[in-house]
Amino acid sequence: MHKITLKPGKEQSVLRFHPWVFSGAIKKIEGDAVEGDLMEVYSASNQFLAIGHYQIGSIMVRIISFEQVEINTDFWHQKLMQAYKVRTTIGVAENLQNNVYRLVHGEGDGLPGLIIDIYNDTAVMQMHSVGMYRSRQVIAQTLKNIFGDKLIAVYDKSEATIPFKANIGAKNEYVLSEGKPNQVLEYNNKFMVDWVEGQKTGFFIDQRENRKLVESYAKDKTVLNMFCYTGGFSVYAIRGGAKLVHSVDSSEKAVELTKQNVALNFDASNHEALAEDAFEYLNTIDNKYDLIILDPPAFAKHNNALSNALQGYKRINAKAIAKIKPGGIVFTFSCSQVVTKDQFRQAVFSGAAIAKRNVRILHQLTQPADHPVSIYHPEGEYLKGLVLYVE
Ligand code: SAH
Repeated sequence: MHKITLKPGKEQSVLRFHPWVFSGAIKKIEGDAVEGDLMEVYSASNQFLAIGHYQIGSIMVRIISFEQVEINTDFWHQKLMQAYKVRTTIGVAENLQNNVYRLVHGEGDGLPGLIIDIYNDTAVMQMHSVGMYRSRQVIAQTLKNIFGDKLIAVYDKSEATIPFKANIGAKNEYVLSEGKPNQVLEYNNKFMVDWVEGQKTGFFIDQRENRKLVESYAKDKTVLNMFCYTGGFSVYAIRGGAKLVHSVDSSEKAVELTKQNVALNFDASNHEALAEDAFEYLNTIDNKYDLIILDPPAFAKHNNALSNALQGYKRINAKAIAKIKPGGIVFTFSCSQVVTKDQFRQAVFSGAAIAKRNVRILHQLTQPADHPVSIYHPEGEYLKGLVLYVE
């Protein structure tokens, strides 16, 4: 293992379990480290602090252990078992009505750079660091040891998420047996998930609890699910007794997936899916909806896109708030990590002011418990939502 020594005083954040070491904190690196290597991190006074993966960029080490342990099969077993135990405690694992959940959520589970989503008998891994990518075989094997016959395939979908400059030629591929797109159960609702062709790992697992809340508001409502992707919110709205549900997405493929998923669950004549641009669609509607869901893609992926993103949130929310029926409900979300909760609320506030409607915040939503946030790494909180009552 290589050794990294920090500048005096720079050990403080590591002692407080923050999982990143920035390049500016480093005094010296011993040995010829290449990206992805394991590194031991020491303070200026030579005190052991942590072990992590070496990375080239402003974050130079992503810490996977604050103890001086060997990073071997036992280490991975213990970490993944711990993550599994948390999902069992939450109630999303070992649940006959639910077999889709996030097993590992990066820093939130003490494993920066690693995402693992469980889709019934298939695990989909998404690595965001070279160190995690290089560990993918041992991680896949450990998953198999933990789940046994309940796990058939492990798919690695890291091609687009490994730092581009690392140039390691990551490919999307099965690393343990071949699988195929699969039907999953989320709170007893059926969804087809295609991790090979789909966005992210195939499904937006992070909206599970928020969909459940939509279900509870949907009775007898006319609902617009804007940015529907695979129709998660639409299925829950129909389940909740909506009178009519319109699902809209600019992608034809998403519209097809939504239709399929609705058909898997209901013989529904009160659902229609349309391929339209969100802004154009909202311009054309009059006030026919009682409930509108706005779950756009991340408008800002980087800080330099922040101000455009905030404008985007303002505009889309202004339109929805202006167009909803009096007494209607808007579920509005942002999944951009660089947009804070306050900034998002400010953007929605500006949108409401443009629409000149009286708006109450009923609920403040976030990501679900299987996307946990380490208390030492508040940056891990990314999903923000507001439920508005519009007079
Ligand atoms: N609510 C979904 C996830 C939304 S992902 C769920 O619960 O699964 C964001 C979606 O927005 C994508 O499917 C993308 O195709 C769609 N999208 C992106 N830009 C759009 C636009 N301008 N108008 C409509 N849909 C758009």
